[in-house]
Amino acid sequence: MKVAVINCGSSSIKYEVFGLPDCLMLAAGLVENIGGSESRLRQRKRNADGTFDELVYSKRLADYRDGFDFMADVNREDRIIKDDSELFGIGHRVVHGGELFREPTVIDDEVVDAIERLVPLAPLHNPSNLLGIKAARIRFVGIPQVAIFDTAFHQTLPPHAFHYATPYEWYDAHRVRRYGFHGTSHRYVSREAARYLGKAPESVNLITLHLGNGASAAAVQRGSSIDTSMGLTPLEGLVMGTRSGDIDPAIHFFMMRQTGMSSNDLEKSLNSQSGLKGICGLNDMRKIIDQAGLGNDRAELAIDIFCYRIKKYIGAYFAVLGSVDAIVFTGGIGENAGMIRERVCRGLEHLGIAIDNARNEAVPGSVAEIQKDGTPVKVLVVRTDEEQEIAQQTVHAIERGKPAQRRPVAELPVRSQ
Ligand code: ADP
Repeated sequence: MKVAVINCGSSSIKYEVFGLPDCLMLAAGLVENIGGSESRLRQRKRNADGTFDELVYSKRLADYRDGFDFMADVNREDRIIKDDSELFGIGHRVVHGGELFREPTVIDDEVVDAIERLVPLAPLHNPSNLLGIKAARIRFVGIPQVAIFDTAFHQTLPPHAFHYATPYEWYDAHRVRRYGFHGTSHRYVSREAARYLGKAPESVNLITLHLGNGASAAAVQRGSSIDTSMGLTPLEGLVMGTRSGDIDPAIHFFMMRQTGMSSNDLEKSLNSQSGLKGICGLNDMRKIIDQAGLGNDRAELAIDIFCYRIKKYIGAYFAVLGSVDAIVFTGGIGENAGMIRERVCRGLEHLGIAIDNARNEAVPGSVAEIQKDGTPVKVLVVRTDEEQEIAQQTVHAIERGKPAQRRPVAELPVRSQ
């Protein structure tokens, strides 16, 4: 049997197919430009020797339903999924689960309605996720489908961590609070780190740092997230490729007064023209590191700000966790940029954190330990695999998850937006 993992963007379907029972990735693909003049499907298929072949197909696709047909046809021709009956289930990545979804959830009409009601909290992402779910339920009738939410892992945050000090009615009426994102990745690397340390997830305290284009930190206490840097939206917290992360909220009003910018312009600016790009004009960390090496002062400043912000979060999460077994680096930057890891950890010896330079430069495999011998806090580099995590969660949710075991959505405290 197979499991398909689906992530629908505004005009794309990203997918991976896993074989059961070992959850081995068999194929990964991207359908792009859905609704455009010509759509493209790229698929990497695993060969028996572990190498991959890439194939590219083109076709005109009007909508997600066409996209799923195309995906199913290609997988049938490539002999990855012979027919739909081979599909044990489909896992859908959904960005925002609000307070309604604490766990992966088998999708039924009620769940679709609930995700729809959460659109105001994630207007850029949930609508595409939802359209994908609706089209997949029509195309793959009878195959169990599961929603896996980026926010779910952080639903264990205690009230003092998730509430903002804004008028309480904002929370009551509009559910303004910290939700946190990248939960699938934080959960996956927490478990991998615990496994590597030879301990149960419930017995380790970790600070997990997902550093990619988007970036977030989480304080994980005995396997549960108790604080995280992203908030109501993914804009808060660490410096990111194009997002500002934490800023004084009064900057909004100041800039609107000074320049006459609209709130929409400001939102765009803080999401897509800020962060590393705002400082040095580049958002790709590889290029920024290259530029810094060539003496570009702005690139150097962008790296400094990026690392300093992470360091501050490590300090804060150390304080809230009390004791920390390991700092975990993951995401494209966290996994690959030794120079950033070194800069983040430099000067943290008083917290028991120190990196061994040789280990930091040569990170092998899916988990590596890079701290100096004898330092109390381990520093781990863990390769994240959100799709693998979604595939496993999909299987678990289907196996345990008769919808009747969920709290009925109608009972949950969601307000009209
Ligand atoms: P996304 O959030 O889009 O999934 P990724 O996790 O793939 O992003 O991370 C992308 C970031 O990782 C980019 O800034 C890229 O430059 C950076 N990155 C990837 N490889 C390296 C590397 N070898 N050195 C430095 N940065 C890297």
